Amino acid sequence: MSFPCYALWHNIVFLKLELSLEMEEKIQALLNEIAQHSSTDKAGLEAFRMKFISKKGALSDLFEELKQVPVELKKTVGQNLNKLKQAAEAKFAELNEQLENNTQSGDSGLDLTLPPVTNKVGNLHPLTQTKSRIIEIFERLGFNVADGPELEDDWHNFSALNFPENHPAREMQDTFFIEKNPDILLRTHTSNVQIRMMEKQKPPIRAIMPGRVYRNEAISARAHCFFHQVEGLYIDKNVGFADLKQTLYHFAKEMYGKDIKIRFRPSYFPFTEPSAEIDISCLICKGKGCNVCKYSGWVEIGGSGMVHPNVLKSCNIDPEEYTGFAFGMGIERVTMLRYSINDLRLFSENDVRFLRQFHPVI
Ligand SMILES: [Zn+2]
Repeated sequence: MSFPCYALWHNIVFLKLELSLEMEEKIQALLNEIAQHSSTDKAGLEAFRMKFISKKGALSDLFEELKQVPVELKKTVGQNLNKLKQAAEAKFAELNEQLENNTQSGDSGLDLTLPPVTNKVGNLHPLTQTKSRIIEIFERLGFNVADGPELEDDWHNFSALNFPENHPAREMQDTFFIEKNPDILLRTHTSNVQIRMMEKQKPPIRAIMPGRVYRNEAISARAHCFFHQVEGLYIDKNVGFADLKQTLYHFAKEMYGKDIKIRFRPSYFPFTEPSAEIDISCLICKGKGCNVCKYSGWVEIGGSGMVHPNVLKSCNIDPEEYTGFAFGMGIERVTMLRYSINDLRLFSENDVRFLRQFHPVI
């Protein structure tokens, strides 16, 4: 063997030894780095994966370098390299688990200094609030609350209430009929409850009847195919028109405040005689005139009158012995005036931006 060849061989052996020593140092440095790695956020975990696990990472490079290590050292270096690989994988699994636990427990990304999100509590619908207020006022005057069916027959909705055969409310274009002959319909007012009460109960009767009613009308800002009414009935001996006026004066002042003015306007209803429309002074313009009151200073809130003797007779009550008054008003109308609402449709659109405005103070 000539000298140059020996020198070359010697150099190669030396280089390979040096390489394996270098690798051992690198492996030890990386093992230390893995042991010290503690970042548990998503970015830190990804950086760890790129460096130690991915195919372009430090471990892949070392496995590539292992091919250059002399055979007699390959086993030792290879074993150390495998230990490094296992250590990296174990650490990655551990960090990954920590990250998942943190995410589940809500620790990650949670800012504890933010103000708490309060529970959203709903509120009663404005119509329900008005209905409750009306009931409260009349209950203090000794009125009971009565209820009845929304699906009604002709007798309780029309005939017993002295509606003539040719009255327009009996036509299909004004009333929703479910069946004709015999007629079954969606009640057009809550007066059916009055009839049912008078049929079952002997006077004295003093009750109000809140409830939903239906009319075949085009939907607009002022009219709807369904709305809510509250009617009142007081039957006893010697009940007069003065009692009707006093009761409704009291109601208007309780509902709208002591400065409200009320007036009765002669009118006609089949079931009362005499009959009167009930007007209150306009709350929007205080009586000066505006588009809500059509520049009259007055707004109609309902109808009233002394119960027609024919109605009492229909219910087997002697009109010579008993008299009484009845009244009715739209809960929507009362609510619109109470809160200055200008569109009837808002009540049934379920828009929370509208409904939230009626959240009670307490
Ligand atoms: Zn007005």
